[in-house]
Amino acid sequence: MYLYLLRMIRHFLKFGDNQMFENFKLSEHFTFFELTRTSIVELQKVNRVIAEDYIDNLKILASARLEMIRSFFNRPMAITSGFRCEKLNERVGGSKTSQHMIGDAADFYIVTMEIKDVFEVIMKRLSNFRWGQLIYYPEHGFIHISNIGAGKNKNQVLIYDDGEYKLLQSGSFK
Ligand SMILES: [Zn+2]
Repeated sequence: MYLYLLRMIRHFLKFGDNQMFENFKLSEHFTFFELTRTSIVELQKVNRVIAEDYIDNLKILASARLEMIRSFFNRPMAITSGFRCEKLNERVGGSKTSQHMIGDAADFYIVTMEIKDVFEVIMKRLSNFRWGQLIYYPEHGFIHISNIGAGKNKNQVLIYDDGEYKLLQSGSFK
């Protein structure tokens, strides 16, 4: 809570009162707002304030992971969840070590494609892509993609099926 107040003060000093949040591009097609949005209204503000500490990670996520997928399919992507502060992550039942909490992960789908097809195409083209973890959530209709963690989880592919994660590929770079 104390840290949150300090962050609010810093945010206030930076942006002033009448412009609480500034939207800006993290990469060509993805904005700060898109990658910090939540449907839980009461956590929207705090989520964006805390996200300001992780802008560097979010920029890498947007430019190196999301743009890569977007340009490959050349179709608009919808982000269902990007940065999640600890509180928000708890509310949505995220893992305690979720990469969403440091701006290193996003969940997405492609607006005009079946999620199953998106996943299959990415799987077939594995060698052209780079990520930390790719997790397919068939029941939820989205795919999770993360930045490359510190020395682990390189090009790992999992499916969340029947309430558990199954490893499809414990990838590594060639
Ligand atoms: Zn995720």
